[in-house]
Amino acid sequence: MTSAIVCSAECDTLTFRVQGQHVQVRIGARRRMALSVEHDGTPVLHLPAVHDHEEARRFLDSHGDWIARKQSDRARLALLKPAKQLLDGEGFLVLGRNRMLQLVDDTRHRSSVTLTGTTIEMPRELAADQAKARDALKAMYRAVGREWLLEGFRPWAGRLGIEEPPISVRDLGGRWGSFSRTTGAVTLHWAAFQLPDPLVAYVLTHELTHALVSHHGKAFWSTLRDVLPECDSHRRELDLFARQAWLGEIH
Ligand SMILES: [Zn+2]
Repeated sequence: MTSAIVCSAECDTLTFRVQGQHVQVRIGARRRMALSVEHDGTPVLHLPAVHDHEEARRFLDSHGDWIARKQSDRARLALLKPAKQLLDGEGFLVLGRNRMLQLVDDTRHRSSVTLTGTTIEMPRELAADQAKARDALKAMYRAVGREWLLEGFRPWAGRLGIEEPPISVRDLGGRWGSFSRTTGAVTLHWAAFQLPDPLVAYVLTHELTHALVSHHGKAFWSTLRDVLPECDSHRRELDLFARQAWLGEIH
């Protein structure tokens, strides 16, 4: 009983499933049977040109756990470091709203992107240069941030009863915001302007509160809660959001 056969195209129509999931089949590229998991989590079965369908099925069944483990690793990585593609239709959050990337033939603004009501227009030439494109997108978020702060931060400083501090927007690595005890300045991460408005307000108010209480003890949270009663739920939402925020990774 052998079903070892040489096949190519017909295997594409042959459906392999493992734990209820469809498995993509690629034939001929490898000399031995192998498994891999795509970035989007799709399991791929690599078969040599000469193969046995039953053996392939058994191989898949015995690797169900391996596939599940790989998929969860992929998902975790994707959440920790989501990457964007510079293609038409790629989504970018701006103050909690999704904007679609639109590549345009623009010869006037070669190094910057234009934010419209629903899109981010990027010159094709710029999209071809990942480093420059990344800089342009960061610059866009910084501009959104500066504009938001013009309106957004005054009331919070007032409610806390503190002087309006100097505020800037830049890359803070793994932190949404920072407060400098030496200069009294507040800095927000450009990536924070992907957040919906109430969460940006939370990040800002959190940092402003450090002008009064430097640590994260009880006094800190009660001061913050006085001016922002929803701060606990905002904090939890922010933790969730932190895993999907785009930090400049492009592929
Ligand atoms: Zn803090």
